[in-house]
Amino acid sequence: MAAVAELRATFASGKTKSYDWRVSQFKAILKLTNEHEKDIIEALRSDLNKPEHEAILYEICGVKKSAKLSLKELRRWMTPEKAKTSLITFPSSAELVSEPLGVILVISTWNYPFVLSFEAVIGAIAAGNTVVLKPSEIAPATSSLLSKLIGEYMDSSAVKVVEGAVPETTALLEQKWDKIIYTGSEKVGRIVAAAAAKHLTPVILELGGKCPVIVDTKANLEVTARRLILGKWGSNSGQTCVSPDYILTTKEFAPKLVDALVRELKKFYGKEPLESPDLSRIINSSHFNRLTKLMDDEKVSGKIVHGGQRDKTTLKIAPTILLDVPEDSLIMNEEIFGPLFPIITVDKIEDSFNVINAREKPLAAYLFTNDEMLKGEFVESVSAGGLSINETTLHVSVLPRVAIHTKAFFTLEQMPIILRVVILLYF
Ligand code: NAD
Repeated sequence: MAAVAELRATFASGKTKSYDWRVSQFKAILKLTNEHEKDIIEALRSDLNKPEHEAILYEICGVKKSAKLSLKELRRWMTPEKAKTSLITFPSSAELVSEPLGVILVISTWNYPFVLSFEAVIGAIAAGNTVVLKPSEIAPATSSLLSKLIGEYMDSSAVKVVEGAVPETTALLEQKWDKIIYTGSEKVGRIVAAAAAKHLTPVILELGGKCPVIVDTKANLEVTARRLILGKWGSNSGQTCVSPDYILTTKEFAPKLVDALVRELKKFYGKEPLESPDLSRIINSSHFNRLTKLMDDEKVSGKIVHGGQRDKTTLKIAPTILLDVPEDSLIMNEEIFGPLFPIITVDKIEDSFNVINAREKPLAAYLFTNDEMLKGEFVESVSAGGLSINETTLHVSVLPRVAIHTKAFFTLEQMPIILRVVILLYF
């Protein structure tokens, strides 16, 4: 493939290893993001009907934050680290020297198509590599905008965009890469890993899963409801890998939680949520049909206690809560990745740990409580990619710290947008 051969030649020239080249590319990313903010918002609206504040907060600020962090830290990342030597090698010295791998393939997904594409590209450049980005064809407006802007602003001898669907990705996967970074479903993750194995290429797979949230009777009900709404429906209508997938709470507390969620949902999206400009739509008709099938499964269709409205023409589904769903229902056996929120009830809140641990390890797990003992038991008993207490999804902004505790006395979503942007930029 000509594009890969050109990138190999560029890498071999040593150009991408220099500090100045890497800095020039981060500055180009910041420039294109600043100069085309409106186009980015428009592309995200076209692909997902993503509300402007979500586009700014999660996608545009996310890219700027990563580019700025790389500008700030690059010197330090490039500086060799002293390593200890031993008595046997005395009087020697040793260093760990970071070096780029070569040509990186980034296969990106559709739910955060701007930020998830650029974050991987920024990482590849920060390490001094050349890179091919394959954005998701399922978000076509953003894919085409990424191709245009990267072509115009960045060094095209080192950073290229290849647009396309399965045949184009398959052709890319036949090439030899030095690393593949893939974000998407487990099913395609297996295809990527198998293709990489042929060349013994290392892979980073950023996959999905079902993220549980435990709500204890000792949680602040109003704050919990608002934060659950922000993490579930306010994050791309649930089409977020770390979005809470299902709730675990006690039988006696569940009706109170449902009441609080319904009350707060009306404040967020009004009486006609399908008309709300603040709710993203479902990405396409096949995901829309998948989600309606989950709702219409006879094991759960009678369990809808709120929502359930859908509009095939606009691809919108109202925030929907299902109470007491059985564990063998369809909705409990795949990642929901949409605006449906099932509740499983348990006798004692501690029983939730067994429900979670009997399943695949989740990408994220959440707990709402003011009980210090329960917090400790949660961190001790539940293993997940990330844990948050009294928050959802927020831990991704403070990685690599794993667990985040926030006090339940403020709600992030009540802050004005400017303040939220400042906080995100700060982190
Ligand atoms: P998708 O359908 O856009 O696929 C992702 C990429 O794989 C695309 O670029 C696509 O062209 C390519 N692809 C699709 N089928 C292929 C095939 N047969 N062969 C080769 N390439 C193929 O996205 P998706 O899979 O629907 O993504 C949703 C999933 O991504 C969810 O499970 C979600 O949880 C996960 N996700 C994870 C993270 C994370 O950071 N862990 C972030 C976002 C999304």
